Amino acid sequence: MNKSLYTKLVLVMLLLIISLMSVVGAFLMNEIRAFYLEDFYKKMKTVFETPELAEDLYSAANDSSAPSKMAGILKAYSGQLGIDSRSRNYYILSGETGAILAGSGTETASLAITPNILAAIGGNTGDVSDRSASYMDVALPFKGSSGSYIVYIKDNKSAVRELSSVLFGIIAEALLVGLIISVLLSLLLAKAMVTPIVSLTKAAERVAAGDFSSKPVSDAQDEIGVLTRTFGSMASQLEKTLDDLKKSEAMRREFVANVSHELRTPITSIRSYAETLYDSTDMPEDMEKEFLGVIVKESDRMTKIVQDLLMLSKFDAGSIEFTFERFSFEQSVRDVYNAMLLEAQKHNHSFKVEFRTPIPCIVGDRARIEQVMINMVSNAIKYTRDGGRIEITAGQKEDMVWVSVRDNGIGIPRNDVDKVFDRFYRVDKARSRESGGTGLGLSIAKEIVSRHNGRIELTSKPGKGTIITMSLPLEGPVNEG
Ligand code: ADP
Repeated sequence: MNKSLYTKLVLVMLLLIISLMSVVGAFLMNEIRAFYLEDFYKKMKTVFETPELAEDLYSAANDSSAPSKMAGILKAYSGQLGIDSRSRNYYILSGETGAILAGSGTETASLAITPNILAAIGGNTGDVSDRSASYMDVALPFKGSSGSYIVYIKDNKSAVRELSSVLFGIIAEALLVGLIISVLLSLLLAKAMVTPIVSLTKAAERVAAGDFSSKPVSDAQDEIGVLTRTFGSMASQLEKTLDDLKKSEAMRREFVANVSHELRTPITSIRSYAETLYDSTDMPEDMEKEFLGVIVKESDRMTKIVQDLLMLSKFDAGSIEFTFERFSFEQSVRDVYNAMLLEAQKHNHSFKVEFRTPIPCIVGDRARIEQVMINMVSNAIKYTRDGGRIEITAGQKEDMVWVSVRDNGIGIPRNDVDKVFDRFYRVDKARSRESGGTGLGLSIAKEIVSRHNGRIELTSKPGKGTIITMSLPLEGPVNEG
């Protein structure tokens, strides 16, 4: 590609120069010839229309030595006629035969009888120009008492030819120089064009091979510069898409592994307790009850996991229905507080609710918002040692309402804070499982809140406690009305 672009450019430039010079050369040559022809006949006309000259020539024609006399008169006009004795000459010809009687030229024998001489022999002025002829001539008849004569000026065009050949030489030289310059220029141009294309091609090859490490860059404002930058941003986009795909693939694998693990744990314990029950013949009744209790508890856990997973997959598929209505957020907070009071008391927690500002009604899915609040409070209860302090506070800020649950529990290590909203993420798996957690509660909460265009944020200090805050827009998600 590289080579062919070079060759093409050089060829195009060469052809361009050659054709340009040929056209200019041909045009110039033609113009010069036309100019000479025109100039010749104009001069002849001006000179021979001079009345004194005609008069002098007529009176000389009466003289006995007419030819030499007439030649003498013409000699005096040599300058005006442009006689140079090399390419242009004057002659006195016989008016009957056209034979040379006198003249400035070297020829003394005879001249070719041209149409203009013939015309003069016939008694007329011969001043017809013929562009294609190798000469230019005029022949004027003069009849005197000593005979009839023809004044004949002939130009053999050697001066034009000389000039043409000089011009041709100049054009040829210019052509040569032009060719050299154009070859150099086209090489430069080709290089300027080819270099970025080559580097772009290399970059494209690297991208095609999956290497995104060095993307092509260009500051050039021309089309290739734009193409290079477009390609660069396309490569970045591609890289990002690939990364996202890889990440989501990794997340999918992790999720599947987590699901299987989470489901296997209760199944394993159900199975082993059931087997023990099945095999034993003389198990004490209270032990039997205890075993059956474990089986029921594990089955409930499984049911909860499956329900939570089902809900998350519905969120993912966007198939979950929300019922948006206007309701009292304050009342909801109170309801959640009341619903959780018993559980909090069971663990000897001091449990309070406080409203910082009057709280207006909001638009949202009441049941799901309460589900999120229950999750926030039940986490506070679960992850705080018995006899702790749990506070619900709520208020309004601008066009949002908020509710915070603060505990003085075990807290979350700094590195884990961002991950608690991930599916199945639990800081302490055993503790979570022990208290009936699935590791899905906060992921579901996050989905519900984001469907309301709200926010859920958590800050925590290990050993000191945790604050989790949900904020919701008063008018619910705008597009849901
Ligand atoms: P789980 O069912 O395990 O409670 P969640 O999604 O509700 O799942 O919470 C994820 C994890 O976040 C919990 O396992 C726990 O480690 C941590 N966490 C959540 N809330 C609190 C809190 N108030 N105090 C300490 N840790 C918390």
